[in-house]
Parts: sequence; C-alpha cells; structure tokens
Amino acid sequence: MSFSGGMDSTSVLLRLIDEGYKIDCLSFNYGQKHIIEIEKASENITYLKEKGYDITHKIVDLSSAMSIFRSSLTDNEMIVPEGYYEENQMKSTVVPNRNAIFSSIIYGYALSIVASEDVNVKIALGVHSGDHAIYPDCRPEFYQSLDDSFKLGNWDSERVDFYLPYIDGDKVTILNDAVKSCINIDVNFDIIFSNTITSYNPDSEGRSSGKSGSDIERILAFHELGRRDPIEYIDSWENVLQNAIRVEKQFKDEEYRERLSDIQYDVTRKSATEHPFTGIYWDEKRDGEYFCICCGHKLFTSEMKFDSGCGWPSFFTEDENANIEQVEDRSHGMHRVELRCSICDAHLGHIFNDGPVSKGGQRYCINSASMDFKEE
Ligand SMILES: [Zn+2]
Repeated sequence: MSFSGGMDSTSVLLRLIDEGYKIDCLSFNYGQKHIIEIEKASENITYLKEKGYDITHKIVDLSSAMSIFRSSLTDNEMIVPEGYYEENQMKSTVVPNRNAIFSSIIYGYALSIVASEDVNVKIALGVHSGDHAIYPDCRPEFYQSLDDSFKLGNWDSERVDFYLPYIDGDKVTILNDAVKSCINIDVNFDIIFSNTITSYNPDSEGRSSGKSGSDIERILAFHELGRRDPIEYIDSWENVLQNAIRVEKQFKDEEYRERLSDIQYDVTRKSATEHPFTGIYWDEKRDGEYFCICCGHKLFTSEMKFDSGCGWPSFFTEDENANIEQVEDRSHGMHRVELRCSICDAHLGHIFNDGPVSKGGQRYCINSASMDFKEE
C-alpha cells in the first residue's frame, strides 16, 4: 500500500490490519514541503509494531526525479494556497501525474513480491472521490485505466489488483472506518491520528497551520464526527475549527449565490418568505419527492402533502430521515417555530399546529423556493 502518513492512507492501513493482510507500506519522498508526514508515518509503524502488528515499511526516494516538477507542494517559490479545499486555486497543490508515478512503482514492487513469494498481491490506496473535482487522478476510471495498462504490459499481472476501499467515500466515511478498525484491532485512535499530518504547509516544528485546503477538510471531518483532532495546530483547536467553519460557510455561500435564483437564495440563506400563491409547488399534486434546493437532502414525499389553502406547500409530517431542525423564531413581532435543513442549515419555512388532526395536527408550511421536486 501507499502510506503517505496522512489520514486517508493511515485509515487504509488500519483497515488492512483488521482484514488480516500481510502488509508492505511504501512512503514516498518526492520533495514535499510537508516531508514530516514520513516521520509521522514511521512513528505509527513503530506504534503498530509495539501492538504486535508486523508491517514492512519502505521509504522510496523520488525527490531527485520529481524536483523538476512544478507544484506548490514542492516548489519553494510557490506558496501553498489557503482556503476551502474545493476552491479552484487549490489546483496548484496538484503534483503532476503523482498518483500514476506512485502506482507504477507500487505495481512494480507488487510484481516483485508475486515473483519472490508466489502470492497474489493487492495494491491498496486511500484515494477517494471527495477529491475528484481538483484531483482527476483520484477518479475510479483513472485507476481502471491504469490497471488495464499495467495488465497489458506485464507478465503475472493477473495476480495483482487494485484495492480502493474509499474510492466512493469522503473524509468523514474514512474517519468513521478508522474508528471502527481501531476498535477491532485494539489500538488507540487518538494516538494513531496524532501521528498523522494532513497539512500542506506545517511550520518548522511540524505543526499544522489549520489553513491549507487539506487542513480545512480534515478539521471539518473531525468536527462532523464530534471529535477533537489530536494533532497539534499552530492555534487552538477551538480557533482552527471556527476558522474552518467560517471558510466553508463563505465558500458555500458564494456557490449558492451562483447556483440559486434570487428568490431561492433569499429564502434559504436569508430566511425570506415567498408571497403566498406565488411559489411553484403550493398547488403541486403530482406523485414524487421534495428535496432541499441547496444540498439535495430529502425532506418530504407527495403522500405527506395536503391542501391547506394557505398558499404555501403544506405537509403534515417529514421524511423519516429528514431530521428537519426546529428553531424558535421571534422575528417580525411573532413567536413561531422555524424549520431549517439539518444538513446545510437552509431556511425552509415554519411549523404550525393547525394541520389535519387525523394526521397529527401539524402543518409544515414550506417555501417552494427552498425545495426541488422530483416526479416519480
Ligand atoms: Zn439542505
């Protein structure tokens, strides 16, 4: 497996131990500014060996070959960008063809193991589709194509396969998997993850800035799991977390502004209310499902809809997995209960207790502008 010392490959390693594989880890020195990740990787190997897990660790030096590449991760004249990880400027952190180069070397090593030990070998990588937009070399079709090419050009290649357990996941899926593996193999999650580094621009003591795109993604993943990241940041956890949330909010807000119509943006992000009998769904009677216009989270189905005569789409209950948040609202001189999307915090409408009694008596009064209807 490719073992960078970051959280994705560390999670893969834990999973492979849990699944009972005999493991060879390759870490690559490619002249990265965050070379400290290799030290961290070695510390985790030492810890896991102490726990009784026998792992081979090899450090491969590609720094000379890759010193001729241009990337903000390796070039001292380029600055590692800060901000949200999906922003376009993060493209400067791409190292050209890196994953293909690493995969080629690992493939050669895998074939060498096949030859010397007469076993089948899997090449495990922690790549995930959450990286798609900016890192095209994390796409599943890229690995399929690499595998096809390698198979064409090598003897015994039928004995080597790629294993990409996180290819369809994101950072949260990965961390969740690591939590599970740590329990199964009886190792301490916080010790393991204190020996990982995700930052592209750590300081001279190896502390993460908390501000590079990869930091932000990591911090938000720990936060979503309700955990505190055990690594040391330059600033306190509270401050780096607050900054990450702010950076994400700002990025999403810009994205919503571009993608949504004026009324959709004003309703969902500024808590405005559309005029009654003006929205596109107040009189909608087709069978189908209603989703949050901002994040696509499922909110209601047409079976929950009823004609309240109020001029807004009305529902007597919500989808069982919607988890719509209810927030006390004392604006406009009224005392109401506001409804917000549990995933993206979009304002949806209000809830009243004048709904059909036979259905529980509630009326979810929702703005059409906050929803996307899909006919069944
Ligand atoms: Zn939403």
